[in-house]
Amino acid sequence: MIDKSSASFVQSLCMGQVLEEMLVPFPTMKKGEQEMLEQVLASVNQLLAPRQKDFREWDLAGEMPKEFIEELKSFGLFGLIIPEEFGGMGFGSAAYSRVLQEIARHDGSVALTVGAHSSIGMRGLLLFGTPEQKKRWLPRLATGEMIAAFCLTEPGAGSDAAAVRTTAVRDGNDWVLNGDKLWITNGGIAQFYTVFAKTPVPGDGGKAQLTAFVVTSDMKGVSHGPHEDKMGIRASNTTTVLFEDVRLTADHVLGGVGKGFKNAMKILNSGRTGLGGGCVGGMKSLISLATKQAKERKQFGQPISSFGLVKQKIGDMVVDCYASESVVTVVAGLIDGGYEDYAVEAAISKVFATEALWRTADEALQVAGGNGYMREYPYERVVRDARINRLFEGTNDILRLFIALTGINQVAAQLKDVSQTMKGVLADPIKGFGVLSDYAKKTAAIRTGLVGDNRGFTKLHKALEPQAEEFEEEVREVAWAADRILRKHGKGIIGKQFATRRLADILIDMFVFACVLSRVSAALQEKGEEQAARELEIARVFARRVRHSVRGNLRRIDVNDDELVKSLADDAFEREAFGWDAR
Ligand SMILES: Cc1cc2nc3c(=O)[nH]c(=O)nc-3n(C[C@H](O)[C@H](O)[C@H](O)COP(=O)(O)OP(=O)(O)OC[C@H]3O[C@@H](n4cnc5c(N)ncnc54)[C@H](O)[C@@H]3O)c2cc1C
Repeated sequence: MIDKSSASFVQSLCMGQVLEEMLVPFPTMKKGEQEMLEQVLASVNQLLAPRQKDFREWDLAGEMPKEFIEELKSFGLFGLIIPEEFGGMGFGSAAYSRVLQEIARHDGSVALTVGAHSSIGMRGLLLFGTPEQKKRWLPRLATGEMIAAFCLTEPGAGSDAAAVRTTAVRDGNDWVLNGDKLWITNGGIAQFYTVFAKTPVPGDGGKAQLTAFVVTSDMKGVSHGPHEDKMGIRASNTTTVLFEDVRLTADHVLGGVGKGFKNAMKILNSGRTGLGGGCVGGMKSLISLATKQAKERKQFGQPISSFGLVKQKIGDMVVDCYASESVVTVVAGLIDGGYEDYAVEAAISKVFATEALWRTADEALQVAGGNGYMREYPYERVVRDARINRLFEGTNDILRLFIALTGINQVAAQLKDVSQTMKGVLADPIKGFGVLSDYAKKTAAIRTGLVGDNRGFTKLHKALEPQAEEFEEEVREVAWAADRILRKHGKGIIGKQFATRRLADILIDMFVFACVLSRVSAALQEKGEEQAARELEIARVFARRVRHSVRGNLRRIDVNDDELVKSLADDAFEREAFGWDAR
């Protein structure tokens, strides 16, 4: 029986184990929720489908009219994840993600306005709020009377969230908040801010820790800057938010004093299926646009859809979209299924889906040719809109470091046990040899392919046997590689970003592959082999893609140009220029 409080599919993968129960069967929604979802999707389409011209104009103007935001409120789109008892729809992660998908099919700025409210702005209140705090604010957040924003980033604190300089100091029973937050989505239209500030560690005057506070826009000392002029998602509101001597009573502390850093990460992890769903929606809309465009456009006497290079792009888009939807749905299923340690899997879904959307947007524009570059068509807007996803809610680079370093946690713990036991073997031979023999069993198992009870997939449809075998083989190699990387670098792995990135890419490929297998298996079981033939083709193409990429990354662990590349970068840093002009 899997322990839902600590099980992680990816961490176990690094130990050579496949926790099949976490992924198979492919998650589905409860019937009641599914029915309600269908109604919401229908009303989203009714609201957004006729607005394409407006979205284009609002993008150019860099603003969304207030009246439209009122319409979003009246359709209940700010209450998606708020429990029904507080006036919301009470959607779980899967249904929420599906709504964001539908909104993003029509427009990225609208998806972000709704997503920033639910995914991050008010999620802290939902996750950590006291019953009184929930009662006080959730009903107004559900109707959209209050729109929410998440205020973490500052001029000196981007990826390094711990470098926050906004402070909250005690004054009697109150707190006094001072600081400036940067690039806050919904900053200028929000009434409810989740704000992260440094608070002093009790009893240690010099030290500070991060604490989250609820701040409302009607408080004295709260203001915001002008709407930023951005590359993409231009109609979504982004501003600085400024706090000057804002006085907060103790009941504005959210999730406990000093727990801010951990809670900020939990909020971001928990909200990732919203962003992932948005990316899937963007991809689906691009596939519709690009296929229609390619069939209509004739060159060399034929529709360009007949050319192999165009087919290759469209086929890749389909595989990317299917894989993204699979991983986002699995992560939502883990969250809705009560798993607590899904941070790595959620980070993988964000990295994969945002990059798949980026590839799709770029290639869809390529298929559209010169038309794609013209503002009259939506492609260039989608390219601009898609770019932000790889940057915010944790840059994909930082998330890759997180995926790899957290992924190998269990391996590191085991190696630490072994090295400590080596020291203590003579002092406590019985305990020592116990740990050593466990470790020896595991390494032998990785070599021979017999990894305890969790060797591989056992419940997948038989048509997927070749892919399941490939997966198992790759798991053994990945586990072996994780072990080797850790032995080679030890604690120093933290500074070895080339190696870490490689490991992250392997884990991303492997987890998404597992999600695709689970989904295709479910399709084969439900629809039969004939009806699910196309999905089986997707599994085959994806399996080959993963094999190629994983093998390459494994090879480059030992044989690579890392030192040469670093030296070229150092040289460029020194010159602050490219060093050669051809004459
Ligand atoms: C449109 C928009 C909306 C946003 N909305 C919000 C919001 O609602 N709330 C909020 O709090 N923030 C928001 N942000 C901020 C966003 O989350 C940050 O921009 C993001 O976290 C990156 O921080 P940074 O821009 O300071 O980049 P930096 O942290 O300066 O990073 C610059 C580059 O260096 C890399 N890098 C940094 N550290 C390392 C490292 N240790 N190892 C390797 N590479 C590294 C990064 O990956 C990146 O490529 C928004 C930003 C934008 C542009």
